[in-house]
Amino acid sequence: MSEYYDILGVSKTASADEIKKAYRKVAMKYHPDRNPGDARAEAKFKEAAEAYAVLSDADKRARYDQFGKAGVNGGGFQQGGVHFTNMEDIFSSFGDIFGDFGFGDLFGGRSGGRRRSGQRRGTDQKITIRLTLEEIQKGVTKTIKLKRLEPCDACHGSGAKAGSQPTICPTCHGTGEVRQVQRSLLGQIVNIQPCYQCRGLGKVISDPCRTCGGEGVVRKSGSVDIEIPPGVSTGNYMTKQGQGNHGPKGAPPGDLIIYFEEKEHPLFIRDGNDVILQVDIQYPQAVLGTTLEVQTLSGKVKLKIPPGIRSGQVLRLRGKGLPELNRHREGDQLVKVQVVTPTKVSATMKKLLRQLEDELGTTPEFKKFRP
Ligand SMILES: [Zn+2]
Ligand SMILES: [Zn+2]
Repeated sequence: MSEYYDILGVSKTASADEIKKAYRKVAMKYHPDRNPGDARAEAKFKEAAEAYAVLSDADKRARYDQFGKAGVNGGGFQQGGVHFTNMEDIFSSFGDIFGDFGFGDLFGGRSGGRRRSGQRRGTDQKITIRLTLEEIQKGVTKTIKLKRLEPCDACHGSGAKAGSQPTICPTCHGTGEVRQVQRSLLGQIVNIQPCYQCRGLGKVISDPCRTCGGEGVVRKSGSVDIEIPPGVSTGNYMTKQGQGNHGPKGAPPGDLIIYFEEKEHPLFIRDGNDVILQVDIQYPQAVLGTTLEVQTLSGKVKLKIPPGIRSGQVLRLRGKGLPELNRHREGDQLVKVQVVTPTKVSATMKKLLRQLEDELGTTPEFKKFRP
């Protein structure tokens, strides 16, 4: 298992510090700010983040060393172990590593969140949409009902009673700011703060609207259509700017943040972009081979079981898995073949099996175990 080590260009015995330095070097090289619009660089950048997520964690690294990628994805096929589809996720996970090396400002804007300065606005509304694997495969548009703060109809969002107008704030004279001048050894220090009377709005309401109590917003039920691209996974999210709660007294709205969550499928489990299904077949089918009709996320297909298949072997249906988010690449459906050992045996079966036993012989063959 050296893939992650190769990505970062370190040896398998590298120390935690060496790994950190190596990751920083690779991440800086392929950083999107330095390679705008370069898809290959972006892929390398994500790859490095994935490698670092594993190798920087002693526990995950040990499991990776022993079991490979399966070891860090929760013992096999669970998804969501370490996989970055979203650049923001990388910055929020590892943004501080750049800071550690004195590059905080270069990346700070991304990892520190949006719109640090500026106007007061409404709060973000967060919702979670649960999706089936079928929906994830095709992509889907969902109409979501939600309650959010929207401008009050009675006062058109101003907060002032119909017929009246907000008036200029007497404290700040409409600027929304108060200045305090302090004298110090270095000269005057001007301290600017939001006005306490109008809370920075520059206007005050003497006759508040009865419907909204002067806030200018009321909670309303509404619905929003959300177009979900194919290939999302639990933990991915989408931001619709300006679709969150409206702020008080005409302040702009916050964002609507939509988190995705995968519903458990009755038949399939997901492993990244692949889906896995088990099929139990009988011993004669395993020996002689057969063709099965197999369920996929998009209908049934024929699957040829080759003669002589062993229990545990995995067959691949190419392109029948999930598409990779924002890529024109499809995962596969893996079919794990399990040969059934019958536990209820009829007299006829017993007779036939005895005949088979005579044919095959009963001497076991001992071999060295190779994991
Ligand atoms: Zn109102
Ligand atoms: Zn004021």
